[in-house]
Amino acid sequence: QFKDLPDIRRADEIGQLSDSFRRMADKLAENDLARKAFISDVSHDFQSPLQNMRGYATLLMNPELSRDRRLEYAKIIHDESGRLSGLSRQLLLLTSIDQFTALPERVSINVTRQLKEAVRKFRWSFDEKELSVSMEAENMEICGDRELLEKVWENLLSNAVKYTPDGGEVAIVLKKEDHQVTVTVEDSGPGIAPEDRQRVFERFYRTEKARGKEGGTGLGLSIVKEVVGLHGGSVVASVSDLGGAKFTVTLPGR
Ligand code: ADP
Repeated sequence: QFKDLPDIRRADEIGQLSDSFRRMADKLAENDLARKAFISDVSHDFQSPLQNMRGYATLLMNPELSRDRRLEYAKIIHDESGRLSGLSRQLLLLTSIDQFTALPERVSINVTRQLKEAVRKFRWSFDEKELSVSMEAENMEICGDRELLEKVWENLLSNAVKYTPDGGEVAIVLKKEDHQVTVTVEDSGPGIAPEDRQRVFERFYRTEKARGKEGGTGLGLSIVKEVVGLHGGSVVASVSDLGGAKFTVTLPGR
């Protein structure tokens, strides 16, 4: 006797179904856009060093070129090919990270030792910059992938060096807090504007100030964020008391 009543339950389910289809379609379109943007960024980043190399190689073919010019052009080609190889190395790393659903390696890592080792590797590049290191926890252990985590420290340190002008300062601090380890890398460089502090972790994002600077790919911090995330940790950018940028990485201890 209720057959003339509309089936509210069914109507609602169809409504839900159509909503979830719409959400799926939106998601797919979003992924497709992101993929297209990614490919266009990669192609662009490969294009400019390749064009420079080609241009300078053509100039080198001129038999009347002076020795000094020849050296200058060869150096540009050398540097640009280095940029290309750095870019492809970082891209390979990012794509491999994309495929991980879990950490590729889970071993016990002494972060204090690993960070000291990274600092040692970079010390030469500080040159005219002051570096202070403070490890407030000796032998702090976490569980994770050694190689990936090494990349985190290397990327943060190389940015601090790259963006801090000579005469500036860089400070690295490792602290143990409850069951976690906090590492901060900060500098007296130009810093990162509040509106860029989240975006710098996006792939290929470079701030206005950095774009003129050579040697960047805009991939370093996205690698930092993804690796730290895979370890169950977090990373944030803020402003340092030294006047520049401050990166705080927090990782769960063992
Ligand atoms: P890049 O290869 O450009 O350094 P990253 O992903 O490592 O790429 O960093 C993204 C952007 O974040 C940089 O282009 C720069 O604008 C900004 N940035 C990163 N580290 C610093 C820093 N220590 N000081 C100021 N800006 C920074």
